[in-house]
Amino acid sequence: MSIDRFREDAHRIVDVMADYLEAIESYPVKSPVHPGQIADQLPHDPPDASESLDDLLADFGRIILPGITHWQHPSFFAYFPANSSPPSVLAEMLTATIGAQCMSWETSPAATELEERMVQWLRQMLGLPKSFTGSIHDTASTGTLCALLTARERVTGFASNEGGLSGTKPLTVYCSADTHSSIEKDVKIAGIGRRWLRKIAVDGSGGMVVEELSRAISEDVKAGNTPTCVVATVGTTGSSGIDPVAEIAEECRRQGVWLHVDAAWGGSAMILPEHRGMMAGVEHADSFVFNPHKWLFTNFDCSILFVRDAGSLVRTFEISPEYLKTRQDTAVTNFRDWGIPLGRRFRALKLWFVIRSYGVDGLREKLRAHIAWAKELAADIDAAPDFELLRAPRLSLLCFRYRPESVEPGDDLDRINEQLLNDLNDSGRLYVTHTRLEGEYAIRFVIGQTSTERRHVRRAWSSIQEMARNARR
Ligand code: PLP
Repeated sequence: MSIDRFREDAHRIVDVMADYLEAIESYPVKSPVHPGQIADQLPHDPPDASESLDDLLADFGRIILPGITHWQHPSFFAYFPANSSPPSVLAEMLTATIGAQCMSWETSPAATELEERMVQWLRQMLGLPKSFTGSIHDTASTGTLCALLTARERVTGFASNEGGLSGTKPLTVYCSADTHSSIEKDVKIAGIGRRWLRKIAVDGSGGMVVEELSRAISEDVKAGNTPTCVVATVGTTGSSGIDPVAEIAEECRRQGVWLHVDAAWGGSAMILPEHRGMMAGVEHADSFVFNPHKWLFTNFDCSILFVRDAGSLVRTFEISPEYLKTRQDTAVTNFRDWGIPLGRRFRALKLWFVIRSYGVDGLREKLRAHIAWAKELAADIDAAPDFELLRAPRLSLLCFRYRPESVEPGDDLDRINEQLLNDLNDSGRLYVTHTRLEGEYAIRFVIGQTSTERRHVRRAWSSIQEMARNARR
């Protein structure tokens, strides 16, 4: 493709992108296709001859778009958002065009030095102490795995990287019963073994019970096991539970255990000084992960792992074959030594674009609005006789269920709410997901989309009330 042709096609694609964003509200939020429907429309064999952009774009509209769940739709209230924004998209276009593989300083000095500065900006924005440094990863799952592997190495005196774990006493890891499943997955991958993951009970508000944590650690010590890492969560996935980080940090300090804080979603709210109290004690953590790709308007993927002891992290991951050595190795940061993959995308550019375009004040304003609308919705749900607020909003997540006066608690109520959720999502008007709280089916509602306005939340509440009245019994 000639550069002239590329220029022409790229302009066309930008129009397609803008048209998509302009029309996004006309799409059903959750894709309505059935399994196999997209695959059935795709040829089994690749084309031998070149095809035109016209054909590609026509098929994009005809085949692909119907199979997209529109995460950037303003009525997306499901999971946690993966919110992007125009400045982030523009930066991603440049990143894709440059196509740099940023494993070492030398392979793109600007990528490394911008990443270092963006991590520093974010540390300041979140109010984390200067002792934290870090790097950008793809996801929180990866960041937490890196933290866990570093904790494993530290507690074994860096022996497990050399000789493996066989013959060592079991290493034990602790998290709350409400912790995200990625922790269990990481424990499996790290070679620790999921049976050594202790899931500590939570209290009525979804926070870890620290006395139970202390007891579990003491029992492991007595049994000859090696307590290795505690994962505290700020903003659990089900109900935005917040573990008492300060008390957990104190316990970790007493027992000499690594403390990792998973704030994948909730961490963004630390840019709001008025919400930092919920993370009191975070300054004592050994590591902290949060995802700008969830609630800081930066395209998936972008997750930051902060650590206090970068030396131990690098010692865990570094490897220096001859073909990767460069003249500057002793003078620069080579981020390939800060995590799992060798190859790294240039993710710092989109953060630079987002933070500079909105300014910290602009980002704060958006988060504050989401939190305020969640509070307003919760008040309406609380006041509605046929609805029950199961979790008051912490930040912008709340959980509720429909409880018509004529129905008894139990399975029927679960079934009615499941039906309501399916009806809402099948309507295409909005997208919500569910969880279980103390065994009860609950509808989760998270506000965090870049283009969401108050009117979208109000309209969602109207749809919920209207469809609840029609929910089949
Ligand atoms: N931790 C929490 C609290 C989450 O809610 C999630 C995902 O929603 C994760 C970790 C995993 O995030 P990622 O998809 O970035 O691995």
